[in-house]
Amino acid sequence: MNPTTLSIPQLEALSRTIRFRTIRNSHLSGTPHLGSCLSCTDLLVWLYWNILRLNTKEPKTEQRDRFILSKGHAAPVLFQVLAERGFYSPNVLDAYGQNGSVFGEHPPTPDHLAGIEAATGSLGHGLPMALGMALASRITQQPYRVFAILGDGECNEGAVWEAALMASAQKASNLTIFVDYNKWQATGRSNEILGLTPLAEKWKAFGWSCLEINGHSFEEMESAYHSLSSDNRPKAIIANTLKGKGIEFMEDDNNWHYRIPTADEVRQSASLLNIPQDQIQLDGRKPISHG
Ligand SMILES: [Mg+2]
Repeated sequence: MNPTTLSIPQLEALSRTIRFRTIRNSHLSGTPHLGSCLSCTDLLVWLYWNILRLNTKEPKTEQRDRFILSKGHAAPVLFQVLAERGFYSPNVLDAYGQNGSVFGEHPPTPDHLAGIEAATGSLGHGLPMALGMALASRITQQPYRVFAILGDGECNEGAVWEAALMASAQKASNLTIFVDYNKWQATGRSNEILGLTPLAEKWKAFGWSCLEINGHSFEEMESAYHSLSSDNRPKAIIANTLKGKGIEFMEDDNNWHYRIPTADEVRQSASLLNIPQDQIQLDGRKPISHG
């Protein structure tokens, strides 16, 4: 049940592998949201390896920590993380995006896939569900913790702020959320579509303990998480991130919310991420066309 304690170079290596597999899968499956996946890859890797108490052999064990990817459109990277963490074999992800596969563009219901706590994708619902789970631990007297990643665009949703009020009123101290603050949403700059600044002050005003970090720095994640851990309020960590992080030609370019990489772009990504040639594996695979 205890998390691993990987070193920063080990976490960085995992992030590179998972970024690459997500990009390759986007090409092969013809499915989008790469920019959104790459902005929260480092957070997911750190959580799944160094923070979450999980049992991959008995994924429903009551004492497990819960994690909800509230920005469900980043499911392609979550699927890669769950595979690498040992919930299932990475090979089964070859079915991603195919008719009849459990692996679609958003997380399925928990009954359909080990390691998933909630079907998300309709934005604004992950935090209310996470809060419900956090409060349920009082009834079941199980000392688990609950975590969620929200998108910054998702903070436009009223249900986020209703749950924020309730979490604070109920002193849900076992609830920690991360806002993947990549400054973009589907069709434009988040702050131009519906202003969020000052975002950290908003969470504080709602009664949460809140810190702002570089969402690609494992050191800052670790130090923020531990400095908030003894606080009896719910916790929000605003993670400043880059959409498309790790791939120079995708970084901070919102076209990659929907664009699908070509085979050449997958190879370029492999080179930027130091992925060995023999792991690229595009030959003989026919990309799925959804057109
Ligand atoms: Mg965003």
